[in-house]
Amino acid sequence: MIGSQATAAIRADLARHARSWLGLPVQRWRRLTQTGFFLLFVFAPIFNILRLDLNLGHFILFGFDWTLGLDDFAARRMSTAQASLNIVLRGFLPLAAIAGTVLYVGWKWGRLYCGWRDALWWFAVLPLTIAFAMLWAVVVMTYLLPPAEVYGNLLNGTPTRNQAIFLTVASLAFCVEFLFARHLFCRYGCAVGLFQSLAWMGNDKAMVVGFSRTRARDCASCHSACDQVCPMRLNPRNVKRMMFACVQCGQCVDACDHTQAANPDGSLLNWVHDLRAESEAAFNTRAARTLPPACSSARTES
Ligand code: SF4
Ligand code: SF4
Repeated sequence: MIGSQATAAIRADLARHARSWLGLPVQRWRRLTQTGFFLLFVFAPIFNILRLDLNLGHFILFGFDWTLGLDDFAARRMSTAQASLNIVLRGFLPLAAIAGTVLYVGWKWGRLYCGWRDALWWFAVLPLTIAFAMLWAVVVMTYLLPPAEVYGNLLNGTPTRNQAIFLTVASLAFCVEFLFARHLFCRYGCAVGLFQSLAWMGNDKAMVVGFSRTRARDCASCHSACDQVCPMRLNPRNVKRMMFACVQCGQCVDACDHTQAANPDGSLLNWVHDLRAESEAAFNTRAARTLPPACSSARTES
């Protein structure tokens, strides 16, 4: 008995350790990654990593002009076959590669992005939201016009009429979206998220939050901490088919770690992959067959 308790405690320790990487907790890595992506979003146009230049009428990728190369075709210096090949190689294939990468990531790991905020932070959130909405509007414009022109005009206080209209409308739209609609947008309006979730649902072995149903009675001492921290307002103990909008943030797993810190068996929520993920999916199917809709959201002993 003592031996099995010790083994369980070691397993719990290992599980807890697995939720850090290079000594940093997963949530801190998540914040660093989000910050890195945001900085990349802001600086990509400035350093010509990726932007669409409306003045030139084509994309710029890593400093090179990304065109379909059809000018020669219009000037009758290129055959129809060569023009078709250009469209496939320079247009269709890169777009298919980007879409394929996005779907593969979703199929294997689900929606690996997004987050939410705490109501306590509203006083700080409001001015920050306005500032970030304006920053987003400016950055989006640098994806469409030369960044030097956009930032130069702004620094001199001389944006053109169209630039001023764009910045005003886009800032207001981002502000409303960040303040009132982001949660709804993430769940129902984001096309990228929707397709990643569909791909994830189609893969029974995809990474998913698994719940130790045989230990469900341990939840009695906890006030649904996992439900309260979920940014997508999900019940993380639910079956996978009810977790369509999960963004794999791991906050429910961390909350359970915290509430079960003194439990020798450790957390009830864990990331599961491959075969264990498949058994979660099998539970989905059984639950769908055997439980009435009102009960299927309550995951209990399997
Ligand atoms: S269920 Fe867990 S991992 Fe998924 S969004 Fe909610 S808190 Fe994040
Ligand atoms: S946080 Fe853990 S113990 Fe608490 S309700 Fe969720 S699964 Fe149960």
